[in-house]
Amino acid sequence: MDEKEDKEIFSQLQQALPGVRKWIDRYVEAHAHLAVPVAELGFGRLPQYFDQSRLKNSKTVKVDRVQVPPLSKMGLPYFTDFEETLFVGITYMDTFFLAPPAHDCESTHFHELIHVIQWDILSPDSFLMVYAVGLLAHGYENSPLERMAYELQRAFEAGRSIPQLELQVREETMLVAKALS
Ligand SMILES: [Zn+2]
Repeated sequence: MDEKEDKEIFSQLQQALPGVRKWIDRYVEAHAHLAVPVAELGFGRLPQYFDQSRLKNSKTVKVDRVQVPPLSKMGLPYFTDFEETLFVGITYMDTFFLAPPAHDCESTHFHELIHVIQWDILSPDSFLMVYAVGLLAHGYENSPLERMAYELQRAFEAGRSIPQLELQVREETMLVAKALS
């Protein structure tokens, strides 16, 4: 992509942002009655990595199918692969949605909690911009915010301790955002 195309895509993303935010707000609101704080799920290992307040304030919703905003209908034609992917989990702000294979999977909960911290640090508009630009530039698994979540998830699965996890995610997320601005 050349610079002119970059600028065009960037302004398309900016224009679509309010619609995407609205879709997300509605989706989260429509499921609020089903949302359960992660602290109440009884997972044994998550408290070794996350603060109790993070686990109390992050919520999970079990659904049959995880939904993403209809981005192509919102004027963003570049995300059809993303739209068609069947995700096992997705995080919108402090709430994450899980499809059946991940309903009781502690490791997926860990992964989505990393995204909760990222949303928290960046605030919704910049999270969405940083996520979208990363997705376009690097693809799903190598987009910076996903790569961070997957790398930490692998450490969690390997049973490694991650001292100051919250701080580490904060710092890395700020660096990712800075690199894109
Ligand atoms: Zn992820």
